[in-house]
Amino acid sequence: MVTYEDIVNLALRRSLFYPASEIHANAPAGFYDFGPYGATIKRKIVELWRKQLVQKEEFLELDCAIIMPEDVFKSSGHLANFNDPVTQCKKCNTIHRADKLLEEVTKKQFKESAPLDELTSAIREHKVKCPKCKGELMDVKRFNMMVKAEIGIATKAPCYLRPETCQTIFADWSRMVRTMRVTLPKGVAQVGKSFRNEISPRQTLLRQVEFSQMEAEVFFDPTQINEIERWDEIKNYALRIQKADGDKIEYIPTEKLVKDKLVSGKLIAYYLARTQQLFEKYGIPLEKIRFRQLDDKERAFYAKEGWDFEVETSLGWVELIANNYRTDYDLKGHMEGSKTDLNFVRPDGSKFIPHIWEISIGLDRTFYAVLEMAYRQKEDRIWLSLPSALAPLQAGIFPLLSNKPELVKKATEVFEDLRDCYEIMYDDTGSIGKRYARLDEVGVPYCITIDFDSLTNNDVTIRARDTAAQKRVKISELRDTLYQLFTGKMHI
Ligand SMILES: [Zn+2]
Repeated sequence: MVTYEDIVNLALRRSLFYPASEIHANAPAGFYDFGPYGATIKRKIVELWRKQLVQKEEFLELDCAIIMPEDVFKSSGHLANFNDPVTQCKKCNTIHRADKLLEEVTKKQFKESAPLDELTSAIREHKVKCPKCKGELMDVKRFNMMVKAEIGIATKAPCYLRPETCQTIFADWSRMVRTMRVTLPKGVAQVGKSFRNEISPRQTLLRQVEFSQMEAEVFFDPTQINEIERWDEIKNYALRIQKADGDKIEYIPTEKLVKDKLVSGKLIAYYLARTQQLFEKYGIPLEKIRFRQLDDKERAFYAKEGWDFEVETSLGWVELIANNYRTDYDLKGHMEGSKTDLNFVRPDGSKFIPHIWEISIGLDRTFYAVLEMAYRQKEDRIWLSLPSALAPLQAGIFPLLSNKPELVKKATEVFEDLRDCYEIMYDDTGSIGKRYARLDEVGVPYCITIDFDSLTNNDVTIRARDTAAQKRVKISELRDTLYQLFTGKMHI
């Protein structure tokens, strides 16, 4: 069974990801860098999302500024609502989440939105002390989770690093309507960095201060929530559903979700289906997936309906996607805050504020889940059984022995011949076994070896990562064979 430690060890050993600024002693926690193979796998996760969701659904994709003025977050509600109740230790200065600390000590539920004096008196009443040093705790105050940015030397109003990529999409919506011939429903997507001043960053990629999101906001007419093109393609497709009032996970076909009124309309069921299909392509087994229906207490204040998409990892169920029916909350707020008319005009001339269905994917968490699902170990052999679309390279090319010039020459020729059409690398350092192991561990599906027989027979050995099985192929047929292998038309 794979563990969290297995993944972190592999990540550090092969530089898939590792702490940012790690050579400096006082680098803050909650920041990670992706090394060469990690960055490529991450990019390919994005590319598959772009291909399967953004392009197939004809979403518009933006790339917006990260720093935004305070007015944006007044309009979005983040300035008032995006905060955690915290208490600081008078002795060791450690800051704690007040509601979480109270829950741990009293075993009772405390809402993060509870009035501050209520939380403070609960701390006094239950004599809650600092869990680190048993010191006295200060009165509870609100701590806004947004990261403030200082621009220039005379900024009139403060700016913030965006806490989610979607606010830039809402702010740009009216421009899309004016310039991109928008008809509804229309998705607007973005992949990029967001920032949250986490009080206690932990579990590497799962809770960071700086993180990446792949978000799509689908704008639609609420009176047409049951009209969606290509419904027939997914109407019999079953989703893994856990209802808010239940603890079992059921396979429910999309059509039944609508009929039983588990979702507000077909449009929502449709995008839940497309989302699950994407994660199947990421190599997440269906039995490790669930859409967890959120009840009134769990939903964000702006959401009418919410489904957390979760994956069962060695750390338990981890939320990878927030799926939210945000109604007209966002556009209404930006309309009031910016004094810009964000109404949409129907063909009959009537006006309305579009509603929004949000698919907010945590990219780093998805990356972690993909690694965990792909991790394989057999005795001391470790490999990542990544789907070919996510592999950082398609193949490695090796001469069997690096000290034989005739093998090196032949292997280099094969490499030069293939490199213009395939993502491959050449490696002649260390033993052949070590070269296999290095590429297995980062998920490269094939290795091509040139040996002494290759010199006379003009052929090579292709070795498959998952099975370590080998196949002899003529060099003249190598291009075609690789194509068949990469596209799944042939297996070794
Ligand atoms: Zn303390």
